[in-house]
Amino acid sequence: DVINSQPLVKALKLADVEQRELEVVGKDGRSYFAKVSPIVSRSRRLMGRVAVLHDVTRFKEVDRLKSEFVDDVSHDLRTPLTIISHSVAELTMSDGFAEDQRKFTDNILASVERMVRLLDTMLELGQLESGKELVYETFDVGALLEELADDQWLYARKSGLTIRTKTAAGLPPITADRDWLYQALENLLSNAFKYAPNSGELLLSAAPLGDMVVISLRDRGPGIAARDQLRLFEQGYQVKRHGSGEVKGNGLGLALVKKVAERHGGSAWCRSEVGKGSVFGISVPVVASKK
Ligand code: ADP
Repeated sequence: DVINSQPLVKALKLADVEQRELEVVGKDGRSYFAKVSPIVSRSRRLMGRVAVLHDVTRFKEVDRLKSEFVDDVSHDLRTPLTIISHSVAELTMSDGFAEDQRKFTDNILASVERMVRLLDTMLELGQLESGKELVYETFDVGALLEELADDQWLYARKSGLTIRTKTAAGLPPITADRDWLYQALENLLSNAFKYAPNSGELLLSAAPLGDMVVISLRDRGPGIAARDQLRLFEQGYQVKRHGSGEVKGNGLGLALVKKVAERHGGSAWCRSEVGKGSVFGISVPVVASKK
């Protein structure tokens, strides 16, 4: 009678013995992190449940300020980078520009491009975190996979790969944010190009599973050790590999994939075996719920 948060009441009423964590918003508008645990008797009988609530309103506010700050800085850094890359490109076209200087300008352009990509990913993550509304449309997943394969085949070829698509017969159209799904799947593909080059065929497939659609990408690359698989989707996490001195990314690609899946009410996952390859996938509801 005294608890007004429905999700909390639901967690307290569940008759299982699992511990649950959830975030609830109180009547006062404050945010609480709730931990609901069972009280189990010595004879393993469920006696009741206890909920401990921590007021995290202040942390959420600080987190929001941090996101806003990162967003502003990313925007501000993008403009000078665009100017640098245009100016360098102009320079290489000017008279008297020696061919042997080109390797320096190529280095500058490649580095600037990497910084722009990093900033774009940070901005995209910011948009997903800020709770900006997704734009829902109803579309055919098979067509989305075809479009990706068409757009990306040249990059695939440069990495010594080919892309095959496979869509389960009778897969219904889904309602989701097409652009964000495209972006998430593009990240998975570009990871396969980076980390599983020259490993033959990539399989990009979609199949129904209950009221979800599972879209996955399989490669036959080096695979990922079990201990790394748990943390792959964290922001900034990169797998350290022997002999891979060069840093190829920023550890944000999979964090974005996870955010996109979660914003649709779905999840992102990885199954992999070292030496055999990896499958990365996202599962989203056929009709996405708004989150
Ligand atoms: P990054 O920007 O470093 O690529 P991601 O979040 O996209 O960041 O990926 C995290 C880590 O997961 C990478 O550092 C890479 O080692 C590993 N990884 C991602 N995709 C694959 C893959 N297809 N095969 C092997 N390792 C992968």
